[in-house]
This record gives sequence, C-alpha cells and structure tokens, in this order.
Amino acid sequence: MRTILFSSQAYDRESFLGASPTFELHFQPTRLTLDTTTLANGFDVVCAFINDDLSAPVLERLASGGTRLIALRSAGYNHVDLAAAKSLGLTVVRVPAYSPHAVAEHSVALILALNRRLHRAYNRTREGDFTLHGLTGFDLVGKTVGVVGTGQIGATFARIMAGFGCGLLAYDPQRNPSVEALGAVYVELPELLADSDIVSLHCPLNDATRHLVNARSLEHMKHGAMLINTGRGALVDTPALIEALKSGQLGYLGLDVYEEEANLFFEDRSDLPLQDDVLARLLTFPNVIITAHQAFLTREALAAIARTTLDNISAWAAGRPCHQVDA
Ligand code: NAD
Repeated sequence: MRTILFSSQAYDRESFLGASPTFELHFQPTRLTLDTTTLANGFDVVCAFINDDLSAPVLERLASGGTRLIALRSAGYNHVDLAAAKSLGLTVVRVPAYSPHAVAEHSVALILALNRRLHRAYNRTREGDFTLHGLTGFDLVGKTVGVVGTGQIGATFARIMAGFGCGLLAYDPQRNPSVEALGAVYVELPELLADSDIVSLHCPLNDATRHLVNARSLEHMKHGAMLINTGRGALVDTPALIEALKSGQLGYLGLDVYEEEANLFFEDRSDLPLQDDVLARLLTFPNVIITAHQAFLTREALAAIARTTLDNISAWAAGRPCHQVDA
C-alpha cells in the first residue's frame, strides 16, 4: 500500500519507521488542503492528522487521484466529511485510543501551571527577579473539578484529580461506572458549571457540543473559576472567553486547542506578524496558557498512533476488521 502522510513532522517519521521499516511510506510535511491534493495522486492511502482538510471537495479530488483509504492518525474525526467519504467509496479509519494518559496528564499540567503561575515564575527567576507577588495559588485538595465527557481521557483525568483530593462532578450522556467509583457525581451541565472550581472539557466536537462553553454558560460558572480545554477548539466560543477574562468572571484559562488553529498550529510563525486578533488578545492575559495541540505528544502515544495506523492499513488491505469510522 503506497501511503502518504500529510502534516508529518520529524517525530512522526521516527515513530512510523520505528513501528515498521518495511511499509512504503512517503512523509509529506505539507498540510492537506484543496491546493495540495495533487501530492496524493497515485497513493492508495492518505494518512492525515487533525488539521488536514478532509472536506467533500478535498475527498473528491483524493478519490479521483486513486486514493481508497483515509487513515487518520487521530482519535477525533470531526474534520472528516464522512457522508462524502462514503458516497465516494473511501474508507475512513482512525486510532480510537492511543494514550488517554498523554492528554489527561497535559490537562493536569495546565491546571498546575496556571494555579501556581509557573509560566510567570519561570520568566521572573530567569530575569533575576525573585519576588513572589502575583504568584499566589490555591490548594487543589477539597476543590471541585467538573469533567465534561467521561470517556477514556475524561476518566483518566478524573482519576488523577481524585488523587489530588478533589471532589468530582461529571457530565456525559453516558455514565462511566469507573468514574462513579471515584465518587464523581453525574449532574446536568449547568449544575456542573455552577459548582466547579475547575472545568475540563473531554467530549468530542459535534453539533451538540459546538460552543458548549459560550457567553451564557460562562455567566453561570463560579466567579474566578478555571477552564481547561484539551478537547477541540470549537467546544468553546473564544471571543466570549476573552470577555469573561476581562471581567474576571473567568479566573484562569488553559487551552491546547483553538477553533482557528488549522492555519497556525504545528508551524513556526515566530518571524511573522500574528494575523489572528482573537488569539493575539488571548496571549496578552497573564492567567492564560496556550499550548499548540501538544497534549497527545508523548513517546508512548506516538508509538501507539504509528502502530495502530499501520495495523489499520494492513487490516483494511487484507479485508480484516479495522478501526473504521462510519458515516
Ligand atoms: P471517548 O470517545 O473515549 O470519550 C468521549 C466521551 O464524551 C464519551 O464518554 C461520550 O459519551 C462523551 N460525550 C459525547 N457527547 C457529549 C456531550 N454532548 N457532552 C458531554 N459528553 C459527551 O474519547 P476520548 O478518547 O476520551 O477523547 C475525547 C476527545 O479528546 C476527542 O474527541 C478529541 O476531540 C480530544 N482529543 C484531544 C487530543 C489533544 O491532543 N489535545 C488528543 C486526543 C483526543
């Protein structure tokens, strides 16, 4: 199977070649867009990541260029037009689980850094400023953490926060007994938002969850609460977050994902003027930390992504069951 990996970085090359040196893999750093589809001509398999464009027009061009399988290197598939893929006869596979720990632990890293102002302390001590003003944090023990989406990542996150001695509220249309066993109480979303000191988002992006956190829901949160989003950017209405940060209603914000990240993340743009005014404003707040979709980025997760993706491709080629995503 000739396979092209769009948006591939040095770490992808390392993990995929480590998983199988015999596969015919073509590493392409370019993002898949309507303008770059010709690069896939003649490749049976297009292996794509989260910010690759897999809309209907792109899929049409891939299909007409000979592609038959879209192998996602991600769990999320909100960026794929599944109905178009089906009508074009393209199979879509994904990596349903690679390391829930990677994403859950990054969410906790954001919480700890924001709470104890590590980003500010790091800069301050390097400048020879050893003062402590503005660095006061809070004890996590006894605080209430609201977990939105208690699947693999949310459940792992809940377990870690239970270890800190936090109380847990959960919201998910499907209850997870392992989360209830931690003492988490399932409530409706407004109650979770109203009663949590920290809210962390771990649900998929779909029509029901788009802008789940918006101006209205932010009003119902505890004053000065912390919001963490390592799910998908469009789970939150970003301009509404800015207003809530300005008023102090939102006390801390940790983002690993951003609604308009596709044209920004994974590239070095440090020499260019930032054109995105919303992101530029967010970056001015001292109580905001933004990471560029790196929560998945651990050695263990990369190895698992490579292994499962190659297994998916082999299984599909042999007509065996694989992690197929249906429309
Ligand atoms: P999962 O399928 O195991 O869990 C998702 C949970 O969300 C399920 O329990 C589901 O019932 C619940 N859910 C569905 N609709 C909901 C709603 N309206 N409100 C609340 N909960 C709802 O998925 P997972 O592996 O835990 O991943 C969760 C999300 O994390 C993915 O969809 C993806 O968007 C994101 N993710 C981010 C990164 C990253 O690097 N930042 C990496 C992997 C996954």
